[in-house]
Amino acid sequence: MIRINDNYLKLKASYLFSDIAKRVTAHQQRQPDPAVIRLGIGDVTRALPEACISAFHRAVDEMATDGSFRGYGPEQGYDFLREAIAENDFRARGADIRAEEIFVSDGAKCDTGNIQEIFATGTRIAIPDPVYPVYLDTNVMAGRTGQYRNGRYEGIVYLEGQAENGFIPGLPTEPVDLIYLCFPNNPTGATITADQLKEWVDYAAANQAIILYDAAYEAFIRDQSLPHSIYEIEGARQVAIEFRSFSKTAGFTGTRCAYTVVPKSLMAFSASGEAHSVHSLWSRRHSTKFNGVSYPVQRAAEAVYSDAGKRQVAELVDYYMANAHLIRKEMQALGYPCIGGENSPYIWVATGKASWTFFDMLLEKAGVVCTPGAGFGTCGEGYIRISAFNSHENVTLAMTRIRQALDT
Ligand code: PLP
Repeated sequence: MIRINDNYLKLKASYLFSDIAKRVTAHQQRQPDPAVIRLGIGDVTRALPEACISAFHRAVDEMATDGSFRGYGPEQGYDFLREAIAENDFRARGADIRAEEIFVSDGAKCDTGNIQEIFATGTRIAIPDPVYPVYLDTNVMAGRTGQYRNGRYEGIVYLEGQAENGFIPGLPTEPVDLIYLCFPNNPTGATITADQLKEWVDYAAANQAIILYDAAYEAFIRDQSLPHSIYEIEGARQVAIEFRSFSKTAGFTGTRCAYTVVPKSLMAFSASGEAHSVHSLWSRRHSTKFNGVSYPVQRAAEAVYSDAGKRQVAELVDYYMANAHLIRKEMQALGYPCIGGENSPYIWVATGKASWTFFDMLLEKAGVVCTPGAGFGTCGEGYIRISAFNSHENVTLAMTRIRQALDT
């Protein structure tokens, strides 16, 4: 009798985005005018930078003739892209990362989800709350948790974010082996300082743990003093894996390109206590299960690092950040404390009400869609996430409507 992976039965059905969709549809049927403005989902709305589009087109043309056609590429990514990443995203910031430590992929979602495969089933996991749900669900699927009870999975060490700690969780009080961190954070927009990150690196070194550092939103960091990469912190090469994505940086959510950095100096241990290279393990996993990102997409990603690409990406990020500043300013003026929106495209708003109650009120009274914080973990209750990914016109209109609806 064929059996399923019973761990899948433990997964709490994720109703968040389908619940949002249902409520929005019902609202639109009741009240088609004015049209709703969506500041809920974290998807970009603007076209790819011109430099990326030109490179994309040129690469597609190369595929059109036998002489320049390319078939399977290297699974880890073409050297031209790995070199550009190492040089621009790391060495330019004083972080010692080499091209061969970079694994190009089709998304940080896949990478943050797949990475747990190379660690033991008994690995003790620490995950922030609230957080991007992929870290938790992939560990549930892999059998590293017990049942879901009272909003939490047994066997996970939750790193709690609250107003008191500015949504930057403190070090765990019980032993853990694998620690997920995400800064700038989705959903809270919170950022971590170099000193705070150094505490995590030192903790991991002292406890033979590994940090999985998701920096998918690093391009939105404005404060010059904040680290963009964990490898700007001394000692991180021995304890950390970093995930990056072109999705939010350069509008690649539909084009798909990301990368993972695994330093060659990173070690983990076998059951008998022998040290093994994590780079070798990930390389084995990546080349066994993945056949590389398409050549035109990698050329488009490479163009992010050209002079024109850098300028255009900065403009793109500036555009969304102007929205973020407006949202933050308006919500604060209405008396709602906010985190995020200064170095991140997300604004995390303390509503003083249950997340879903506030969500319904914004939808009904202002026709604006946000994301209820409770969907990102128990600690998200009482908050909503507002996303800056939309046009200036829509964001300005949404804030006018919110002001009129709430300022009474
Ligand atoms: N990591 C975080 C924190 C995210 O919020 C997202 C997407 O929303 C991802 C990773 C996924 O990025 P990608 O589009 O590269 O799969």
